[in-house]
Amino acid sequence: MRGRIAFPFAHRPVGRDARAKVPMRPLAPRIAPAAVRVPDPRYTQIEIPFPSGRPEIFVHEGARQSLERRLTQAALKPVVLSITDNRRSMLAFSSKGGVVYARLHHMFLDAPASVQESLIRFVARGDREASDIVGRYIDHNGHRIRASRPFLRPLVTDGRAHDLLAIFETLNDKYFGGTVDALITWGKAGRPRTAQRRSVKLGSYSAVERLIRIHPVLDQAWVPRYFVTFIVYHEMLHHVIPADMARGRRLLHPPAFVEREALFRDYDRALAWERAHIRRMLRA
Ligand SMILES: [Zn+2]
Repeated sequence: MRGRIAFPFAHRPVGRDARAKVPMRPLAPRIAPAAVRVPDPRYTQIEIPFPSGRPEIFVHEGARQSLERRLTQAALKPVVLSITDNRRSMLAFSSKGGVVYARLHHMFLDAPASVQESLIRFVARGDREASDIVGRYIDHNGHRIRASRPFLRPLVTDGRAHDLLAIFETLNDKYFGGTVDALITWGKAGRPRTAQRRSVKLGSYSAVERLIRIHPVLDQAWVPRYFVTFIVYHEMLHHVIPADMARGRRLLHPPAFVEREALFRDYDRALAWERAHIRRMLRA
């Protein structure tokens, strides 16, 4: 029977991921983990670099029904709401026999109230301003759209000196309540990319692939673990905090990002280490 699923349990992950079902911690990311969980592909990364088949999504049934009810009230006719994990179509509507069939990406289930209200106005009345708000929300949540590009190289986390998966899991547990479902790998060997030899790109995050790459120059015994951990933490923040638009410019490190970054336990130490050793890393 619909509507009878107990609220806090409707989204509980299953299987191997079940061990991540710790309650929300104070430092959980901006994105509410309550609405939906996509199975964590990290657990299959070594044997199956590119998970085959369609990932299942776990929809928070209570949130779905509540949104369906509000859409029905606003549209003045029955709305049947399906939640998708589509790559391209974020929202779609069709009408048949007086019933509206709405298909929405799961990002809308835990959207802020103002975005949900705009979505409802857009569906019920085709409101132009509401459509802009919805569009911006989709833009800012691009990182939640399932990776659409296959991984060309297998993911490697076990380095000679540092184990990225262990670092990632510790950070995920400590700072993100176990909710970060990005992938991680050592990047390709080669010189660290530099901008006029002043900065090194030691890590990167690709939202399309949902993948963190860490430069292999860090995989050396003389590079302390807390520094590698800091770089991984920074890239995990990119997964959790989308870039912001400020006066037409994309702000990769918005104020919320900078604040969260400073919460890292070894923040000052890591920055000092980077300053002291950046030249040696460039020569490596
Ligand atoms: Zn960054």
